[in-house]
Amino acid sequence: MKRAYKYRFHPTPGQAEELARTFGCVRLVYNKALEMRTRAYTLEGRKVSYVQSSAALTEWKRTEELTFLAEVSSVPLQQALRHLQAAFANFYAKRARYPTFKSRKKSRASAEYTRSAFRWRDGRLTLAKMDAPLNIVWSRPLPKGAEPSTVTVSRDAAGRWFVSLLVEESIRPLDLVESTVGVDAGITSLVTLSTGEKIVNPRHERRDRRKLAKAQRSLARKEKGSANRAKARLKVARVHARITDRRRDHLHKLTTRLVRENQVIAVEDLTVRNMVKNHSLARAISDASWRELRSMLEYKTAWYGRELLVVDRWFPSSKLCSACGTLQGVMPLGVRDWTCACGAAHDRDVNAAKNILAAGLAER
Ligand SMILES: [Zn+2]
Repeated sequence: MKRAYKYRFHPTPGQAEELARTFGCVRLVYNKALEMRTRAYTLEGRKVSYVQSSAALTEWKRTEELTFLAEVSSVPLQQALRHLQAAFANFYAKRARYPTFKSRKKSRASAEYTRSAFRWRDGRLTLAKMDAPLNIVWSRPLPKGAEPSTVTVSRDAAGRWFVSLLVEESIRPLDLVESTVGVDAGITSLVTLSTGEKIVNPRHERRDRRKLAKAQRSLARKEKGSANRAKARLKVARVHARITDRRRDHLHKLTTRLVRENQVIAVEDLTVRNMVKNHSLARAISDASWRELRSMLEYKTAWYGRELLVVDRWFPSSKLCSACGTLQGVMPLGVRDWTCACGAAHDRDVNAAKNILAAGLAER
């Protein structure tokens, strides 16, 4: 099984410059290839293959205004074309939307290196076109004897550098357990379990969110293109990075626990959750963390020999009495507790989590 290990690192000024140049070239190649494919697709209804876009890259390197493409490692550029190929495959299979251009401001800058483009020796990682290994902060150990097969370097909006190492690892499935659990996504509490337990958002999040809102207002007031605006944007990015880091850490602990304790985990498919037209910050963060929670559950259940059941998103989980199965007519969002005609008293979210579990087990 392949597993990614992600670390911060501190590049030297020379390495930072080399990487920034590589990121720029990766973005340019990706966007040029996307433009080429879009033109072929819309004008001639023709699909462009990876091999054809790779041949085009060779041509671009030969033209005078793009010779700089030949100065960075060619591997990340090839990988960008492979990613675009995968994005189109997903689009043609109706699994994803049409690929979009990578923007300098909005996209995370990254470059992917495969085995031929880095050296791994005695736990030190040296990338192509560099003389010295990266100064990596080993916040947790790589498994003994692990050999990375792919390395991805990135810089987030807050200006922090990360390197992600993909290593082959054998993970032993956990021993079978009897327990099953249903998980309901919330906003006020992060999730509610069918066992009645409510898991709250990480500490400090409310305060961080207020700070984020304040930083965003301050950014909106700054004049476009000014140095103060750039500073304000970095401030927003830093607060945002802190929130997502804490959330992710919290989600890792939660999902590991759920997978350890339960053989079967049922969740609701909330890919297009649109129950409330609410574009609040809390909402955006809660949607993002739900997506992340779902994907963590997907790979962790696969690693450890557990089962993840995904229930249809139109399933009326909160309107159904989990005791007698009667469907209630209306259930306004403000109603947190209710009593069914059968006499069962429900907490709205716990009842929903119980229904999700029952529906998941029934569909299995
Ligand atoms: Zn009932």
